[in-house]
Amino acid sequence: MVTEAGEAASSFTADTVWRESLSTDEAGRLTVDLGAIADNYSHICAMHPTARVGAVLKADGYGLGAAHIAPVLAKQGCGEFFVAHLAEALALKPHLPPSACLYVLNGLAPGDEACCAAEGIIPVLNTPHQARAWYALALAQSRTLPAALQVDTGMSRLGLDERELEDVLGWPEFAQLIDIRVLMSHLACADLPATAANASQMLRFALSGARLASVPKSLANSAAALGLPEAGGDLLRPGLVLYGVDPGTGMPPQMRAAIRLDARIIQIRDISAGAAVGYGHDYVADTPRRIATLSVGYADGWSRGLSGKGAAWHAGRRLPILGRISMDTCVVDVTGLPEGCGRPGDLVELIGPHQSVEDLAGLLDTTPHEILTSLGGRFMRVYVDGTAPHAKDAIS
Ligand SMILES: *Cc1c(COP(=O)(O)O)cnc(C)c1O
Repeated sequence: MVTEAGEAASSFTADTVWRESLSTDEAGRLTVDLGAIADNYSHICAMHPTARVGAVLKADGYGLGAAHIAPVLAKQGCGEFFVAHLAEALALKPHLPPSACLYVLNGLAPGDEACCAAEGIIPVLNTPHQARAWYALALAQSRTLPAALQVDTGMSRLGLDERELEDVLGWPEFAQLIDIRVLMSHLACADLPATAANASQMLRFALSGARLASVPKSLANSAAALGLPEAGGDLLRPGLVLYGVDPGTGMPPQMRAAIRLDARIIQIRDISAGAAVGYGHDYVADTPRRIATLSVGYADGWSRGLSGKGAAWHAGRRLPILGRISMDTCVVDVTGLPEGCGRPGDLVELIGPHQSVEDLAGLLDTTPHEILTSLGGRFMRVYVDGTAPHAKDAIS
């Protein structure tokens, strides 16, 4: 076991245990700690005692397995789930209690209306056209249909503008036919809480909200949930922070990382000074080196941008990436490992106590969201609760 400070906060088991059950054709192992996700969710609830806390599980729960994560959150009392597409909602529905509300953030696509209504999925109405189609279906079926209304308050991405909202609310019996469950908007700069754009968006949201005084309001993603409490509203929509990943605002110390990613060593060799490594010969050894080839590459979401600058970790040592990352492999320097440590078949840490999702996002100048959603289907997904593996799901 390594004993770095970060290890204390992690409940993951020692590398030797993990190695045993790794099948030989997997790129590596993506371990998701469902207990940490449940605790992180509860912590957000405790931070916002008067609001409801939903969960954003679009893109298969940021690539981590929405079908595994959603029931855990439902057990913690989460009743509202957001995905991007109707197909995602339909796939998630069997994993949730019948009382759960499933919202489709990207709106009501033309032709999806009947399916959405029949399946009890709640569309987020983003345009007058979508609102009109849902309203027409309610009229045709002589029944009330549920919806979320989104207003654009300054991000210019999705939602009705003020004039369109006025227009839609003026349709005869709209308020009777459409059960507006929530009025929502989205902040462009929530990760920079002091930015004037937030105040401006909140003001515009409040003005639209005044038209629908009795309707619950929803504005906060993870960054706003942590750093902009005044944006909170009645229903929060955190995604990233459920996994204990910092959305850029800093993290309460109680929240903990729920993800670990390990890759397998598939070959070790000793090279002499002057030997070149990988495509383009970008790395040439200046002294004799021991190098390890890992079974992970850019096709797995281990970005080519990490070529020559990223690292893996093993036994508390940093293993620098040598040369360019290939599609299915990359090469790291294991010269510094103690004798007998780091053999073919061993797992090395790519994300864990020594290297966080945030660290990788920083190296690649991107968001932690992109790091998570890039992790490919060749990693074996393993779901644990603290230390005890209780569910496995090999995806290949
Ligand atoms: C993705 C998304 C969220 C969640 O964002 P996080 O930064 O992961 O918390 C919330 N609301 C909307 C509309 C989104 O698209």
